Amino acid sequence: MPPYYAIKVTGALFHTQGGLDIDARCRVLRADGTPFANLLAAGGAARGVSGNAVWGYLSGNGLLSAVAGGAIAAETAKGMVNA
Ligand SMILES: Cc1cc2nc3c(=O)[nH]c(=O)nc-3n(C[C@H](O)[C@H](O)[C@H](O)COP(=O)(O)OP(=O)(O)OC[C@H]3O[C@@H](n4cnc5c(N)ncnc54)[C@H](O)[C@@H]3O)c2cc1C
Repeated sequence: MPPYYAIKVTGALFHTQGGLDIDARCRVLRADGTPFANLLAAGGAARGVSGNAVWGYLSGNGLLSAVAGGAIAAETAKGMVNA
């Protein structure tokens, strides 16, 4: 039934593609590439897996890095505690 209303919708990224640089064990890296001793990051706090441009984004990349990265970071933390 009229009247009808419309809005213009366009594609957009709605979150960052990550943050802190990390290695494969989720250890946060300094600018020179060496890891901080006791600083871990995963998920939205860490760099993403989508690359540096918007075309690298795949739906699921955000939750992937949160869930898998969280598990990896937990393993790394466990190793730190037991070391
Ligand atoms: C609208 C929207 C749609 C999305 N859709 C998808 C999708 O379809 N697929 C996909 O893979 N990803 C999607 N994402 C991205 C995905 O949600 C995130 O990448 C993911 O939730 C990151 O998880 P995280 O645990 O790292 O961070 P978060 O989920 O942001 O969790 C961080 C938590 O820390 C809490 N917190 C913050 N500061 C403090 C503090 N000082 N003390 C205690 N707690 C604190 C926050 O309240 C929050 O609960 C979407 C994101 C948005 C915004």
